[in-house]
Amino acid sequence: MSPPPKPERIPEEFLPWIDQLALRLEALRQDPATTAGHLEERIRQSCLELHRLLLEGEMQLRADSVELVCEKCGHPLVKGGRARTKFIRTMAGEMHFSRGFGTCRACDAIRFPADHSLGLSKDSIASPLLQEVSALLVSLKPAEHAATASQRVCGIPLNHASLSRDARRQGERALEIRPELDRRRPAASTLGQTQPKPFTLVIQIDAMNLRERDFWNETEAKRRRGEEFTRWHWTYTATCFRLEQRCVQGKKQRAFITERSYIATMEGVEPMMKELHAEALRRGLASAERVLVLADGAVWIWNAVGDRFPEAVQRLDLYHAKSYLWAVANETFGAGSKEGRKWLKPLLKKLRADKAPDVIQTLQELAPKLTPADAKEAARRAIEYYSNNEKRLKYVEGERRNEPVGSGAIESTCRQLQCRMKRCGQF
Ligand SMILES: [Zn+2]
Repeated sequence: MSPPPKPERIPEEFLPWIDQLALRLEALRQDPATTAGHLEERIRQSCLELHRLLLEGEMQLRADSVELVCEKCGHPLVKGGRARTKFIRTMAGEMHFSRGFGTCRACDAIRFPADHSLGLSKDSIASPLLQEVSALLVSLKPAEHAATASQRVCGIPLNHASLSRDARRQGERALEIRPELDRRRPAASTLGQTQPKPFTLVIQIDAMNLRERDFWNETEAKRRRGEEFTRWHWTYTATCFRLEQRCVQGKKQRAFITERSYIATMEGVEPMMKELHAEALRRGLASAERVLVLADGAVWIWNAVGDRFPEAVQRLDLYHAKSYLWAVANETFGAGSKEGRKWLKPLLKKLRADKAPDVIQTLQELAPKLTPADAKEAARRAIEYYSNNEKRLKYVEGERRNEPVGSGAIESTCRQLQCRMKRCGQF
């Protein structure tokens, strides 16, 4: 263990903190009712104060050392007068530092070089870390609940209005950065040169309904005017990755993907496909030997795929494909019945063995004899589904190539989004 620092080497401003800490610890030692909980809480609070002291000191040092020049054009600033105080909310509570400012004559603007150097934005008083933590908390819980959680988790209370404001700001920032990232995407040709090994690019697409709180403060007026609006919006999602980056693990052969892109947008199918195409290019679409698209049976997906990825091999998610047969069994024999399972077994096997025409034929022969009407209807739907998607029901080849036969990757993405946005009070 290293020796404790010599007292003279501790900066003077920390001495009151050390004294305070010593007093507090002494008081806790004297109190027989002190538990591990009390100890941890008091020490945490003391450390937060140290955190605040250190951070404030470092920010002031930086503010004092920054040159008074324009961050946009580098021109020296014309001094604006006495230094101004900047207040900032951090994970250790509120703090402040003073910094100089001035006018850039070339840009005709007032500049605060220290703020820019510290990465603090003009319109936010929350530190970057606090903003990130707020966004994370609000994404997991409604802002009202996140506010109570913040006190226990972070040791400082955060009110729900500032939590949701900071989270929103992070979201808006992400939207701003996105087009810039797309622009910086390397050209397809250069990607082609660096990826000489043949590979398969896998794309998975899905959609879900999410709630968004729009028309803030206008909903009552809208209702009175009899205007229709919905808070539920279709969210279109997709993911793409290289087959070689998909591995299977464990007894259950669970797949995981080491590197992938994903897209989620409420803007519509076309904007989603545009972003997906950009991501696919980034992952080497131009030089992919084979492109495989997996999805459920939604018609819009296959139409959009035909437009954007005309060369792609299309495959239906096996789980969705099976669900049509399950529906027939459940309606005919009762949900989850033993008889139903017995009837299903050979048909599911055929579906898996690329024998969709056999399945269709069995269903066609069976349909007229089925009762009740719901069973007949389920059979009709299954026949229609398998007939429309016959060329997408190729699992044997998929297996041989070690390709996924289900769209689990995108469904797990959807599940994450749903967990974050479908809770009570969450938008
Ligand atoms: Zn300037």
